[in-house]
Amino acid sequence: MPKRLDTLKILEMLPLIYEDLDIDTIERRFFAMTTEIFSFDRLALFFVKHKKSLLQGKLSHGFTPGAIEALNIPLSADFIFTSPLITGVPVWNQIIDNDPYVKNLKLTNFAVIPVINRKRVSCWEITACKEHSCPAYGNRWLRCWLISNNKCSSGQNLSLEQKRQKCEECPVYQEGNADCVEGILLVDNSLSGVEINDNTVVVLSLLGHTVGAAINNSKRFERTLKISIKDDLTGIHNRRYFNERLVDELERVSRYPKDPLSLIMIDIDFFKQVNDSHGHQFGDSVLIWFAAFLSTKLRKSDVVARYGGEEFALLLINTSQTQALEVAEDLRQQIALRSHPATGTNITASFGVATFGERATSVDSLIAKADKALYAAKAQGRNRVCLAG
Ligand code: GH3
Ligand code: MG
Ligand code: MG
Repeated sequence: MPKRLDTLKILEMLPLIYEDLDIDTIERRFFAMTTEIFSFDRLALFFVKHKKSLLQGKLSHGFTPGAIEALNIPLSADFIFTSPLITGVPVWNQIIDNDPYVKNLKLTNFAVIPVINRKRVSCWEITACKEHSCPAYGNRWLRCWLISNNKCSSGQNLSLEQKRQKCEECPVYQEGNADCVEGILLVDNSLSGVEINDNTVVVLSLLGHTVGAAINNSKRFERTLKISIKDDLTGIHNRRYFNERLVDELERVSRYPKDPLSLIMIDIDFFKQVNDSHGHQFGDSVLIWFAAFLSTKLRKSDVVARYGGEEFALLLINTSQTQALEVAEDLRQQIALRSHPATGTNITASFGVATFGERATSVDSLIAKADKALYAAKAQGRNRVCLAG
């Protein structure tokens, strides 16, 4: 640089950012692309840890290995690396001698580009503020509450604590969306002294915005995926997810036949009576309570799902028939002993157990076996565990 900006190369590489939905991959591609297209001496990518309000170093090129990755910078208007996350505006061509991070990394000729995909809410508009002398007035800051000396409608300079209290009630503060992606790209030519011109900063800013949008889409996609495999009422997995996992796990044990796989179908006994006596809403609360109980009792590797109305399914990985029978019997006893915390209502449940390899050879036959065993448990009087015959 300034190697002439290769527009064709940028256009050619840009879709790579959208071709994957994995955030790590998107970030790595963006970083590799920026490294390849521009020949900066050093580059680094940071991302915001929203819950901790920190900017964390993630990828670097040209810096001492580990130096960037070790950085955790508090979000504040006072630091050069974090100020673009408050204003949304890049920092470049500035002589800075009082910033600890700039100093430690020996940066003299650099640019900090925000990687942001977040709506900028203007505080003065949202609160109909008339405080023209406030430094936030007239700007579309991303985080106006972090700007020093903001006056926040009182006309007075407030202490940090007063400001925090006022800010927390403000719609701008609450607008903060923890899912949005934010980070910075640091590009540096301090060693070569090659100028980082306005044009380069504009192009990098556009790329930064593109990456932000791609990561946001991927987060949305992940969220939708998560919702689509959960049961609305109980929050545990739904039947669709259970069936998919069952197919995957059966395929796995077909390859490694030594790993047994067991399925337990559970149906709450006389649940219609619970609804009839206490109402549907109470019935719902029993289902939520029951699902939570099952979830806490099983191992992380097992799958617990609501299979239908008051029917639940458990997939026990690496569990033999004998072990699955023990698990079912233990659950049965514990359920029979418990009463619903709100009303003291006792419920019981019936269990059907089937194990892959013990005569069940496909997804359908494994489910059919467990169903048949459950039916037998009902027929024999309920509140019992039966094995696929
Ligand atoms: P059994 O011991 O034979 O299983 O008797 P049961 O009453 O549990 O079985 P039945 O199939 O006769 O009734 C199931 C009941 O579960 C009826 C239905 O209204 C209720 N149910 C299904 N889904 C829900 C739900 O989401 N919420 C509530 N509250 N009830 C539900
Ligand atoms: Mg039932
Ligand atoms: Mg039922």
